[in-house]
Amino acid sequence: MVLPKAEPTKSYWIEAAESPLRDYRSTEQLPHETDVVVIGSGYSGASAAYWLHKHTQHSAKQPQVTILEARGICSCATGRNGGQLRPHAYSRYDKWSDAFGPEGAMELIRHEMAHLPAFEELAKEEGIAEEICLKFGETFDAAMTDEAWTRLKTAYDNMRRDQGANSDVVRQCRVIEDAASAEEFTQMKGVMAAIVHPAGQVWPYKFVHALLRILLEAGNLNLQAHTPAQQISERDAAGWITVTTDRGSIRAKAVIHSTNAFASHLLPEFGKLIGPERCTLAALKAPASFIKHTGAQHWDGTVNNYHLQLPEPYNAIILGGGRQLLVHKADECFPSDDDDKQFEGMADFFRTWGTSDVKDWPGSAALSLPEDEGGCWSGIETFSADGWPFVGSLPNRDGQFIAAGFVGHGMPRILLSTAHITPLVLDSLGMEYKQPTLTAPYPALPRPFHVSAERVEKLQAFDLAVKMESFRASCKESAMKPFCLDERSRPKIQRVDSPVE
Ligand SMILES: Cc1cc2nc3c(=O)[nH]c(=O)nc-3n(C[C@H](O)[C@H](O)[C@H](O)COP(=O)(O)OP(=O)(O)OC[C@H]3O[C@@H](n4cnc5c(N)ncnc54)[C@H](O)[C@@H]3O)c2cc1C
Repeated sequence: MVLPKAEPTKSYWIEAAESPLRDYRSTEQLPHETDVVVIGSGYSGASAAYWLHKHTQHSAKQPQVTILEARGICSCATGRNGGQLRPHAYSRYDKWSDAFGPEGAMELIRHEMAHLPAFEELAKEEGIAEEICLKFGETFDAAMTDEAWTRLKTAYDNMRRDQGANSDVVRQCRVIEDAASAEEFTQMKGVMAAIVHPAGQVWPYKFVHALLRILLEAGNLNLQAHTPAQQISERDAAGWITVTTDRGSIRAKAVIHSTNAFASHLLPEFGKLIGPERCTLAALKAPASFIKHTGAQHWDGTVNNYHLQLPEPYNAIILGGGRQLLVHKADECFPSDDDDKQFEGMADFFRTWGTSDVKDWPGSAALSLPEDEGGCWSGIETFSADGWPFVGSLPNRDGQFIAAGFVGHGMPRILLSTAHITPLVLDSLGMEYKQPTLTAPYPALPRPFHVSAERVEKLQAFDLAVKMESFRASCKESAMKPFCLDERSRPKIQRVDSPVE
């Protein structure tokens, strides 16, 4: 049983957003009853509530929704992630086609790619694109070693071989094979080659807060920060499910679990299925519009960095990964839900990324905010026992639904996954609804995401100790490679408190 840590490190996204909804409670007391309780106010919970609204906007009756949030509104993974709306356009092709066949792999890729127009259309309809710093363009995978290039290029070549050079997704990818052109495009020193494809970037915390504001203004949401759900009942004879919190109980006809890494607090059957992994990011000071494209640097299958730059007036570069250093600290990463702790030496590692990795870096080595005030932070990604999220109607729990376990890669997966849940919830309530035009053109939920009794049962055999051992082994292997042994990457005994800003 586990709840998020009470005092998380401060993330740039949350501090710089200055949102009035940060610790919002719609009412002093919890409502006694509601149609739907959503547990968790991150991207999954907020988008599930948004789709309930959009499906019933023109119906005679809309469901009343109450969102319960253990900490500040959207203060977990979504409030501390990389902001990359970056589909796996080709790079997982081999792995996914081995598991599900070429068409299964394309089903997953198309679902992710569909999040680009889905975000664009939603932001246009709601008039929030500028507010949430939504941008689209090309992103790159920069190969920093032969090993990385072999992996990336093989995935691309195999997709091209199976799908044909004229397939829509293959045509969206572009290979830059010579190092000089790759360096020009990626702005990364030492890059050997790169693969480029369409992607987006967004301020995830502002996106969630914008959705919640829209719902509050529409009048059918009660939002409750700092209200951890501690227990949940089965549906009683009258159809009510009671959720008990530290501030009293609320009963509902349906409940959506969007609790990410913490799902097993209320759903013990998910204890082995979903869990926490600690990661870290920083916000770096940089001149406006210096970074041209979002991207990721890859050294091997474990070691990478990823970054984007925010538009004016923010200009911060959001830099994540830092695996050159983290491979030396495997036990502090996995499993861990300590987003209330910094990794020793991490801020210094990130600070020096500009000078060490970026071509013609004009900036200083400063964070955008002081280290512990939003300059550098930890965040909790989830792992899932089989690597896939759990989306749908919960087996053996009448009236309960789940969207959780998005495995560190939720931005191009969650929006259209929660759209899948909405009709199931509304059917269970017996409410009339109409599919909004926003979701109509998009692909169905990929098969591996579906939650079923068989899947939950089968995964009870998952052995966390084996996964921990394999995580440790891959970190250890990377930790001995030259790119993890330079002065920046080796863990420092003492943190250097170099001046900020
Ligand atoms: C450091 C980091 C970097 C990442 N970078 C990227 C990226 O660049 N691109 C990308 O696609 N993905 C990225 N991810 C993954 C992405 O952030 C997640 O997949 C996504 O935010 C998950 O959204 P969520 O709503 O499911 O979870 P969360 O945002 O974690 O929301 C779950 C909410 O449930 C609340 N909660 C939990 N238990 C309870 C309870 N019992 N009662 C009440 N509330 C509860 C939590 O407090 C939390 O607010 C990253 C994640 C991290 C941590």
